[in-house]
Amino acid sequence: MFSITTKTDEETQAIGRHLAELVSAGDVILLDGDLGAGKTTLTKGLAAGLGIHRYVKSPTFTIIREYKEGRLPLYHMDVYRLENGGGDDLGLDEYFNGQGVSVVEWSQFVKGELPADRLTIHLHRDESNIDRRTLTFDPQGEHYQKMTDKLEAQYDE
Ligand code: ADP
Ligand code: MG
Repeated sequence: MFSITTKTDEETQAIGRHLAELVSAGDVILLDGDLGAGKTTLTKGLAAGLGIHRYVKSPTFTIIREYKEGRLPLYHMDVYRLENGGGDDLGLDEYFNGQGVSVVEWSQFVKGELPADRLTIHLHRDESNIDRRTLTFDPQGEHYQKMTDKLEAQYDE
């Protein structure tokens, strides 16, 4: 596990752009944090890094948005509306095992559907500074451990 603190929206997007260079088909990234923590902001950076230039917003009502014009497809999910269940009917496995990168906001609401290997990124707001966020990378499995190590190496420079 390691953490990065950002002071602006742009710095959080830059982390997403770095991450975009490290992901491959079938990767699953879970974004964990309260409303306004920066989950969608990070996803915007990831999308931009993949070469997706459409406007990316939280798919709260549609649950899943697919962007296919980048280096890899991006499956952006916001499962907040599944707080009371229903995630098992969505066929999320198809996305998780698909040719794209899956990003899941509020993944705690579909816990039972998640693959064992994944990268969880926890985003926390700082009480003392309205624009400060701490991102903590928590990889499960060797593939995501390596990805996290590479990202950490970039931020150590
Ligand atoms: P979430 O998807 O977690 O609900 P959003 O990414 O939609 O959160 O919203 C985060 C909000 O906080 C945006 O309005 C963004 O501009 C703002 N913000 C301010 N500072 C930061 C930062 N350091 N990182 C990310 N977002 C920030
Ligand atoms: Mg969001």
